[in-house]
Amino acid sequence: MNLPVYLDNNATTPMDPEVLETMLPYFMQKFGNAASKNHSFGWIAEEAVDHARKQIAALINAQETELVFTSGATEAVNLAIKGVYEMYKGKGNHIITCVTEHKAVLDTCKHLEQSGGNITYLPVDEDGLIIPEELEKAITPQTILIAIMYANNETGVIQPIKEIAKIAKKNDLLFFCDATQAVGKVPVDVLSDGIHLMACSAHKLYGPKGVGILYVRRKNPRVKITAQIDGGGHERGMRSGTLNVPGIVGLGKAAELCSQKSDSETLRITFLRDKLERALLQIEATFVNGSRTSRLPGVLNISFQHVNGQALMMALKNIAVSSGSACTSASLEPSYVLKSLGLSDDLAHSAIRLGIGRFNTEEEIDYTIEQMTKAVNHLRAISPLWQMYKDENELNKV
Ligand SMILES: *Cc1c(COP(=O)(O)O)cnc(C)c1O
Repeated sequence: MNLPVYLDNNATTPMDPEVLETMLPYFMQKFGNAASKNHSFGWIAEEAVDHARKQIAALINAQETELVFTSGATEAVNLAIKGVYEMYKGKGNHIITCVTEHKAVLDTCKHLEQSGGNITYLPVDEDGLIIPEELEKAITPQTILIAIMYANNETGVIQPIKEIAKIAKKNDLLFFCDATQAVGKVPVDVLSDGIHLMACSAHKLYGPKGVGILYVRRKNPRVKITAQIDGGGHERGMRSGTLNVPGIVGLGKAAELCSQKSDSETLRITFLRDKLERALLQIEATFVNGSRTSRLPGVLNISFQHVNGQALMMALKNIAVSSGSACTSASLEPSYVLKSLGLSDDLAHSAIRLGIGRFNTEEEIDYTIEQMTKAVNHLRAISPLWQMYKDENELNKV
């Protein structure tokens, strides 16, 4: 077993070696610009990009012409929300999203609020799920877009996507879905899921960093968006800029591998997550955060009462995990996602996110169980708060 153990696959995934191998020729021998129409260097690059489009389209059941390559999910989210807002603002200025969205969505919505946008942030229940009736109630004649994520990056909680899509369709609204955590992990099908725009990113599915896609529906309905980057008219005018050919080739290969591996990989990763969860729940006063049923296979977000998550992380020198979200763990604020589920500051501060991926082994999970159990017991043994909690419990029993 190699140390440290990487259990932060929701922050980013290691690249699959097959992905790297597929990318390598496109840095040197096949370096052409996919927009060069006059020679074989360009044609070879364009062919590779077209092949990647096929591989990605197959994974999410889209048409190749419905994919716009971007620099990642953050850019795709910006393009979707700002692009729809600018295109449809004649119809209305109201967007409905949710409090547990990724910062890419929340900050984009905040930006639009500065320029006249009206945003509703739906709450979630204690499982982290939106309540479809609340969504329906929030719709006004000014509403143009619903922006709800597929699966949450901190808890792995999967939203009721088909129900949301039904409400969007009934009310003639567009439905944008940040599916960055879901694509490649659970079956995502833009047609049967009823999604009109969707963002995802290569580095969350064993591909390279710095490349992603925005899916933009072309039929039923035909979605139009205003470009956010001008110059050259690449990607049918929706995203100008020379294509990142090696990155796109890598994303394509990563998508193909996910299509091939999905069923067996899901079973294996679910087995490992459930083993880890069962063992950690043996520790006293320990709680799983978010729904345990509507959840991604590899994610476990867990709170150990009266154990500071940051301290626990430091104690686990040989295990890479995350306390709260990777994007906010630089700050000492408790995770806004966990707070939205109704957790106290204390329990939110005591949360650890474990993300299991393709390259984790059962041996690593066994090691993690052993090390975490030891660390939690040690931190509690030296914690006055824990002693008080124990004493109170004893008193209550008498
Ligand atoms: C990682 C992530 C993003 C950002 O993706 P990048 O490609 O790193 O910009 C957006 N949304 C969710 C849910 C994510 O997990």
